[in-house]
Amino acid sequence: MHTSGPEVRPTYTAAYDTVAERDYLACHEFGHTLGLRHSGDAASCLFPNSATSGVLTSNEIVELNAHYEIPQ
Ligand SMILES: [Zn+2]
Repeated sequence: MHTSGPEVRPTYTAAYDTVAERDYLACHEFGHTLGLRHSGDAASCLFPNSATSGVLTSNEIVELNAHYEIPQ
């Protein structure tokens, strides 16, 4: 392991160290990857800087279903 170089993002070493925080982070970033923006709803994982929810709201699920609807 290389240890003599500068440490990358040292503030992240203590962050997201619980399952709930990692669930929030994964939901948040996958939401962005799929095209969702930040939410004003604190119940959503797309609510910025809130590691309290690891879920999408029903409105976000409707938005994703509409965006990725399979043609009939
Ligand atoms: Zn974000």
